[in-house]
Amino acid sequence: MTPPLIAGNWKMNGLRVDLGEARAVADGVARSTPNARVALCPPATLLAAMAQVLAGSPVLLGGQDCREEPRGPFTGDVSAEMLADAGARLVIVGHSERRTAYGETDARVAAKALAARRAGLEPIVCVGESRADRDAGRAIDIISRQAAGCIAGALADGPFAIAYEPIWAIGAGVTPTPAEIAEAHAALRGALIDCVGAPGRDAPILYGGSVNPGNAADILNIAEVGGALVGGASLKADDFLAIIAAV
Ligand code: PEP
Repeated sequence: MTPPLIAGNWKMNGLRVDLGEARAVADGVARSTPNARVALCPPATLLAAMAQVLAGSPVLLGGQDCREEPRGPFTGDVSAEMLADAGARLVIVGHSERRTAYGETDARVAAKALAARRAGLEPIVCVGESRADRDAGRAIDIISRQAAGCIAGALADGPFAIAYEPIWAIGAGVTPTPAEIAEAHAALRGALIDCVGAPGRDAPILYGGSVNPGNAADILNIAEVGGALVGGASLKADDFLAIIAAV
């Protein structure tokens, strides 16, 4: 069984002066040998410097997005190969903030996940419904379709994870009920098996959206929750380490 994954998404936060938080996470993980794999996904500007901070540590470095082409005339974009070259081992694709701000479709997210695989990175593919979708009773349908559209069979050749991130819970201080999380994760497990066959039984399904030290243990104990994607609470080492310790 794949161990749980706790991944911190710094989003567009962090300067070199903040690398002490990453160092503290690395030190804390080294001291405690947690029951989870741990990753930090800083902004692209900090990848190389954070790779040095994490050198020799079990904490993995991740990117927050990648473009699907390996190189070319795409001003401002970063390829999966570039992330790998900077020391990344994972990459988040399809985060709702990118789907909303840049109109990323499921097909685009699928291409990014395959680009990650091509570059030897582990993709973390994000799916999640809006508040309106949940209120209309469409949440399970929406996330199942997103998973089917984003997870290609070729991903089964290597490690990958999916993250259930209800858009309305991100940065909002609210989470779905345990029953809602369990229902979503069970549906995603079924969708993963439909997409990739047997390897879909093992791929971790992370929960993301307002995870904090106070709610982490309850969320991580829900059936089929295989870790967490953590935004705000990953910026402070003490909070992130408390979430890691809750696994
Ligand atoms: C996220 O954006 O992936 C996220 C889960 O954010 P937060 O933990 O701040 O809700």
